[in-house]
Amino acid sequence: MSSRMLVTMALPYANGSLHLGHMVEAVQTDVFVRSMNAMGREAIYICADDTHGTPIEIGARKAGVRPEEYIEAIHREHEADYKAFGIDFDLFYTTHSPENELHAGKIFEAIRKDGAVEKRDVVQMYCPTDKRFLPDRYILGTCPVCSTPDQYGDSCENCGSTYEPTELKNPRCAIDGNTPLERRSSAHYFVKLSNYQDFLKEWTSTPGRLQPEIRNFVDKWLSEPLRDWDVSRDAPYFGFKIPGEDAKYFYVWLDAPIGYLSSTDHWCQEHGRKLSDFWGADADCDVVHFIGKDIIYFHTLFWPAMLHASGWKVPARVHVHGMLGVEGAKMSKSRGTFLNARDYLDAGFDPEWIRYFFAANLGPAPSDIDLSLNELKNRVNGELLANVGNLANRALSLIWKNGGRLSKLPSDDYAQGLFARGAKIYEDFVGECYRDCDTRSVIQRVLAVSSEANARLQKKKPWELLRTNRDEALSELTLAVNVARFCARWLGPIVPQFARGVEEQSGAKFEWGDFKPLEDVAIREPKPLVRKVEDADIQKLASKFVAPEKKAPETPSISIDEFAKMDLRAGKILACEKVPKKDKLLKLSIDLGEAAPRTIVSGVAQSYAPEELIGKVVAVVANLPPRDFGKGLVSHGMVLYSNGGTRENTAVELPADVKPGSKVR
Ligand SMILES: [Zn+2]
Ligand SMILES: [Zn+2]
Repeated sequence: MSSRMLVTMALPYANGSLHLGHMVEAVQTDVFVRSMNAMGREAIYICADDTHGTPIEIGARKAGVRPEEYIEAIHREHEADYKAFGIDFDLFYTTHSPENELHAGKIFEAIRKDGAVEKRDVVQMYCPTDKRFLPDRYILGTCPVCSTPDQYGDSCENCGSTYEPTELKNPRCAIDGNTPLERRSSAHYFVKLSNYQDFLKEWTSTPGRLQPEIRNFVDKWLSEPLRDWDVSRDAPYFGFKIPGEDAKYFYVWLDAPIGYLSSTDHWCQEHGRKLSDFWGADADCDVVHFIGKDIIYFHTLFWPAMLHASGWKVPARVHVHGMLGVEGAKMSKSRGTFLNARDYLDAGFDPEWIRYFFAANLGPAPSDIDLSLNELKNRVNGELLANVGNLANRALSLIWKNGGRLSKLPSDDYAQGLFARGAKIYEDFVGECYRDCDTRSVIQRVLAVSSEANARLQKKKPWELLRTNRDEALSELTLAVNVARFCARWLGPIVPQFARGVEEQSGAKFEWGDFKPLEDVAIREPKPLVRKVEDADIQKLASKFVAPEKKAPETPSISIDEFAKMDLRAGKILACEKVPKKDKLLKLSIDLGEAAPRTIVSGVAQSYAPEELIGKVVAVVANLPPRDFGKGLVSHGMVLYSNGGTRENTAVELPADVKPGSKVR
């Protein structure tokens, strides 16, 4: 274990406001950094706005300002929002910095010297009125496979097919609607990622780097030669010019992760430190990245390869968290189930409420979490306030009214053994959980310790004892305060204000690894540690978004007769292969108990390697009309999948002993 850490979270894109999904990551990373620092490691928390690319160039143009002004305004807003949620960065910088331009140029040059850069011509769609090449997301047209109109240049939302923008029917420019578009050729720079395949296999298989679920994912990518990566874009573009080129820029995804390193450089200059102490290949430092599921490829393949090729330190660990839903629905602007960080603050919600809520729901695995406002209320009121808060507040209030001083711990074994037990819980459990990002378990353990102390208080009734045996009563209350201090200390990285309240009111600071009782000191006047969540609060925030249950159901109900028309059957997957040039499709051969197996096409190639599906018994819709995928590929049915797990799609599997062809009801 290195003595210092450099911790980052994914850089928010500078073309819009932060939403609560951003805050899941910010809170998880912040809690991690605070806990590492509390445990005596030097952990530096670095973040920046990700400021380059076509969306920002176009967004600024629409707003009628220069891109520099556009990203500056967003930076101020992002910075204020993070601060309001208690996110304690050492630096929140920008990728549009001189340091980043310098390091991006140097790293690219190092990759080129390493023989992994190739320049070659690419044919792309070009809009003659905008005078620009159009990225996939800026081309709209009719799907070449299913003829659905208004699809993007890379994939169809209706049938899931992927294609080249040049295959799209009736393509038009998404910026100004111009048609027809031209095809033009331009030279692009490609990084031959496959040159680093062996290094990446070794890096990803080193224990501790990736969560097991994520490693499985990445292994699949690494089981085939990695595709070359186009790292250049033509003007007009907002970004850094490629050295030696006139109208070519680094693709935003090249310089965005370099922002981790260049922002550290800026911080080092401001603090008289050396960049090489953090990012040098032999530095006594662990680089740890927190990211969401959507950018795994960039952080586990591109980024380590770039660092390796340019002689910097490769990340010690990449931690992936799940996505945030709201009231059981995906966060979606179009569906109205979307909450900005500002909405939360403007509704008068305490940031510590959601920090606690997120931490109570986050574990070491990259599982998705759901924001239920009722659960938030129940957890804050029932756990943080009624359990830990109440223990502290009740004991401190009685002491305050009876002399305002802690006395001595009771002399029984339980009370005298408290600190030895606390030290053991810390050593065996709390520290380990924080290292694993298992804040859910930290909270459960703290609540158990606090419940035990509340139960003892309830049994000993010091409020009655005060009349008959004042010394014993004060001893009991002193014990309760000491337990509350343990609990608050361990919750400190999650709810720092709450913890500080307990610390201040009980009369002395606490240190993470200090296991001596606090006795015979004056306390301060107790005050509520956190405000209670009221129903009126919930209503106020809920009015900012459309709760899914309030809307008309998206799928109308069907009769049992209609359901009975569906021929659902168990099918055994005999073979499975990729479909050439369709990187979302898998072609399955499925035994449905019929004379011959059926061919069924599934759009799940991103979720499964072909060999993973072979042998599985799955649920199949057997009476759909055949669907033509072109080039002789016809699907005769559909395999059922569920979303919401680690994979985007998880096959609905039946036990292996279910015979092929059996009815599913
Ligand atoms: Zn155009
Ligand atoms: Zn389609």
